[in-house]
Amino acid sequence: MFRLVTVNGRSALEHDGEWYDVAEVANDPSLADPLTAIARHHELHALNARCVAASGGGRIDSAVLGAPVPRPIQSFGIGLNYRDHAGESGMTLPPAPLTFTKFPSCIAGPTADIPLSGEMVDWEVEIVAVIGTEATRVSVDDAWGVVAGLTLGQDVSDRAVQLTGTPPQFCLGKSFPNFGPIGPALVSIDAFEDPDDIGLWCDVEGERMQEARTNQLIFPIPVIVAYLSSICTLYPGDLIFTGTPSGVGMARGRYLAAGEVVVSGAEVIGELRNVCTPGAGPLDI
Ligand code: ZN
Repeated sequence: MFRLVTVNGRSALEHDGEWYDVAEVANDPSLADPLTAIARHHELHALNARCVAASGGGRIDSAVLGAPVPRPIQSFGIGLNYRDHAGESGMTLPPAPLTFTKFPSCIAGPTADIPLSGEMVDWEVEIVAVIGTEATRVSVDDAWGVVAGLTLGQDVSDRAVQLTGTPPQFCLGKSFPNFGPIGPALVSIDAFEDPDDIGLWCDVEGERMQEARTNQLIFPIPVIVAYLSSICTLYPGDLIFTGTPSGVGMARGRYLAAGEVVVSGAEVIGELRNVCTPGAGPLDI
């Protein structure tokens, strides 16, 4: 197994509470690039074992981590993928994965601030699948084989931008700067007892807002990967935000305010901690 992180823009392995520069452990400078390291994810298991004999860069707790995939080629989001969240949104269940783009420019690290673009910015904790192997028309049975691992993400959403007008603007409303914090680590599939059953939660100002397990997904991760790959070629490092459970702010009539802290968590993967700050909305035209 491995836990891949990013420190100072370079890929690193988290091992026994320390981080290790992947390029140094492997003695291969090309592995400093996170996308290259992810594309060679099969090698990371052996490199993880070599960390014991390598010199570490420092304690993982005191490192400032970037997004484990800082610049994916593609970043997909799946909407209404938990039955109870579809219900609270007043929407009918989609017949196929309801897919939108979180533009890669919104991807940020696990402790990035979230500049608020308006008065209706909402939280959505999600497990994020990270593609490891280029895939076209992969079968459901083979789909886990093209996934490098899983990380945690917030699909931060400006509901005013998302839902103004018909049809809605999912992509832009979810793509303001830092609206896609991910991390803290990209964790290999074999680290999970069952990668189709992971607990996740979201606290805002210490109040538990969302809590669920991924065994409640309407379209499980292998189905999403197979379906997307039947249309788009998937590339190493591509992100798939797999959908959020119930408990979002829109259903509560409560949105994020500057100074508030959003803590998102998932079993095995760890936590994101993001502070909301004043930001800028879309151009008034
Ligand atoms: Zn979402």
